[in-house]
Amino acid sequence: MPFTTTLSESPRPEAERAAILSDPGFGRYFTDHMATAEWVPDGGWRDFRVRPLEPFSMHPGSGVLHYGQEVFEGLKAYRHADGSVNLFRPDRNAGRFARSARRLALPELPPELFLEAVAELVKADRVWVPPHGDEASLYLRPIQFASESFLGVRPSATSTFCVVASPAGAYFSGGVKGIKLWVTTRYTRAADGGTGDIKCGGNYAGSLLAQTEAQQQGCDQVMYTSGPADRRILEEAGTMNLMCITADGELWTPALGTILPGVTRESVMELASEHGLDVREREITVAEFLAGVESGAITEVFATGTAAVITPITALAGEGFDLVVGSGKPGTKSMALREHLLGIQQGDVADTRGWVRRVC
Ligand SMILES: *Cc1c(COP(=O)(O)O)cnc(C)c1O
Repeated sequence: MPFTTTLSESPRPEAERAAILSDPGFGRYFTDHMATAEWVPDGGWRDFRVRPLEPFSMHPGSGVLHYGQEVFEGLKAYRHADGSVNLFRPDRNAGRFARSARRLALPELPPELFLEAVAELVKADRVWVPPHGDEASLYLRPIQFASESFLGVRPSATSTFCVVASPAGAYFSGGVKGIKLWVTTRYTRAADGGTGDIKCGGNYAGSLLAQTEAQQQGCDQVMYTSGPADRRILEEAGTMNLMCITADGELWTPALGTILPGVTRESVMELASEHGLDVREREITVAEFLAGVESGAITEVFATGTAAVITPITALAGEGFDLVVGSGKPGTKSMALREHLLGIQQGDVADTRGWVRRVC
């Protein structure tokens, strides 16, 4: 076990922690510890530590600050009814993290070290995992970045890996609500041969303005498209993958390529047959999508991602259209899939696929 743990001598007082856990929101508070490791050219990965959370001391010339050589992951630990703490498919995040690093010419962290870092951090911060139920969890955020101070454009010779943790409340407080998407034709998030299919900070840097414009249009999030003007196809919502349910029992989702291969997307696709849905990974043109929503051939639309699990999409707008999906309320099949998946994650529905990994 390369990671050694040094516990904090000044953890947050219990009363403060309890107050935070009663209303954590998302990404606002951090736990008492972090996991870190360094990569150096002679010797590779080293310095595997779980230790008190503290700021990095960083040279202003560090590569990540200039050229954005950085990748990340996002996964959750849930407390089950028996008090145990469990991760959901962390092997998928470990593999994707290494693929993301490879694409950005960063050294790959072996998946077993990723898994150990996450597990040891969860153990050190076990008291930060919210109580069972209510969809609350401990959100884990692994990152890796170029740490060498050097202004030439080439891959950094050194790299830092770090995992921080942040308690997360139910994504929808006060019941699941549908969101409205702004279908943008002005911005794209990915191109063939680009970085759309990995999780890197740079993808998000380019998405913030599009997200702001979606909000100015009265929408909650942006929906990206690609392709020529007369044949735009749907990509994803930028932090979530897209799914449509049709009146004749199909589940459509854009095929992999330039989109992010989501763990939630993959899991929903596997559960779909138990809900009487035939999965079709395919190209979905904006034209057929809009026509389907208008005619009622598409009955439900939702988005998938670790943070919100399944988010119903109940309205859509873009240049020249403003549409309601179905009845304008979260769809029954989307909600059934959501309950099923969350049930497995929270340990209330039997895990027949070996998706849940107990940590402590
Ligand atoms: C992380 C992410 C998703 C969702 O992936 P999950 O593994 O389900 O959390 C979707 N799109 C983008 C761009 C992402 O970064």
